[in-house]
This record gives sequence, C-alpha cells and structure tokens, in this order.
Amino acid sequence: MALKRDSKVYCAVCDLGQRCYEGDPDCRVSRRALREEVRERYAEPGLKEMSRQAAFVEHYGYRIWDRAYETVAFAKRMGYEHLGLAFCVTVRDEAEMYHRYLEEQGFRVTSVMCKTGSIAKEELLGLADEDKVRPGGFEPMCNPVAQAKLLNEAPVDLAILMALCVGHDTVMIQHLEVPVTVLVAKDRAFDHKPIEAIRLRAAGEIPQEPAAERTPEQVAAHVAERDGTASSSAGAGRGSDGAAGGADTADEETNE
Ligand code: SF4
Repeated sequence: MALKRDSKVYCAVCDLGQRCYEGDPDCRVSRRALREEVRERYAEPGLKEMSRQAAFVEHYGYRIWDRAYETVAFAKRMGYEHLGLAFCVTVRDEAEMYHRYLEEQGFRVTSVMCKTGSIAKEELLGLADEDKVRPGGFEPMCNPVAQAKLLNEAPVDLAILMALCVGHDTVMIQHLEVPVTVLVAKDRAFDHKPIEAIRLRAAGEIPQEPAAERTPEQVAAHVAERDGTASSSAGAGRGSDGAAGGADTADEETNE
C-alpha cells in the first residue's frame, strides 16, 4: 500500500535521530520560532502548574509508581478534592475498587457508568436489531454525553476515564469542561493494553487486520450467553467482539 506521508510533522518516523531530545531545536519541526510561541502558553499560571506537577510526578515516581497511583499523586499535588470516574461496564469491578481507593486517599468521588440513561441503541443511534452485540434483546447505548454532563455538573476537578470505547472516549472528551486524564484505554482483545497489539503487529505475530467481523455463529453464541443457554464451547477464548485473546468476564455477562 502506498504510504501517505505528506505531513509536515513526522517525529515518530524521524530521520534526524530525534536529536531534539539532546537540545537541537533547529529541525524544521522543532524550530526555534515554535519554542517562543509555546513559551507564552506555558506562562499561564493554571497550565504551568499542571505541567510542573506532572513533571514532579514523573520525577518522584519514575518506573516505581503505577499509573493508577500516579493519578492520585498528580491530583494531590494539584490540590484537587473532587475526582470524577467515567467507566465502562466492562470494568465495573475495577471501577468499584478504584472508586473506593480514591475515597481512602481522601478524595470526594463521583463515578458514572457508560450505560447511564438506559437509552436503547435503536432509539438514538439508528441501529437495527442485528447491529447489536447481542441481537434480540434490550441493549443500552454507551452515553458519554451524559457521563460528561454529570461530571461537569458535579463539578469534578479532574475526570478520569476508565476503559471507554474508542469513539465514545472521543465524544466524552469533546463534552468535558474539566481537565481529563485516561487511566485505562479499552482493548477487548488484549486486556486493555493496546500497546501489545502495536508491538505484536509490527513483529508480524498478529495479522495486519484482524478478521473482518464476527461470524453469525459468534453472534449466536453471544446471544446464547445472554440468554443463559450457551454451551461450554460457544465463543470460547474470544471477547465479545469476536477478537482472539483474553475474553473479559464482564464483557461476557453484559452488553459491551
Ligand atoms: S522535532 Fe525534529 S528532530 Fe525531533 S523527533 Fe521531531 S522531526 Fe525528529
């Protein structure tokens, strides 16, 4: 496939040895004029403080602190008191654990699940019954607009996203009026570690493109799971989207 490489910014495939890291500001991307332009922005007190505290968290916890704790450390350093947790039903157990942990760390916590509002996928999204994960029953849509609205109205000092779907996270970030950080990036096939797929694909260990879509048999197996009539072999070893890899218990029990 012909590469479309006409961007003016190409750091990830840098042919200069990424020498900006060593302090060379003269490449046409990392140019001196740009340094002056951003200096003004970082002079804004709120932004400067956020960037400073992020750097302190990096310093103190480098390769020691996990991200869940780093989020706590950052929030404390910023003086945040009220945190928002926007989570997917897929990780509801972990969301409960983290909600309790944040409270134990002294924060007030507002948490909101993706299915809040219980709006059927057919109602607002125009999906047909066969487009649902498990056709033939009620399936609520993910509702990131409502999640964002509830966190804005709280209002929380920081919104923490936990395993929202690709695209639903986009909508959520579009609608949030508070600072936001991502704690967990959803990946149903790789236990929410998308970087694994990037590495394995580059190494040729998984296909460039996975199977095009679920087979009718897989859809039927997911319906049977919902209805409690699944045989022990149905859908074994697959997530709810039919991708190979670690099936998620919550996925198998719920809609997403
Ligand atoms: S700023 Fe320039 S030198 Fe640095 S990584 Fe990007 S292209 Fe390479």
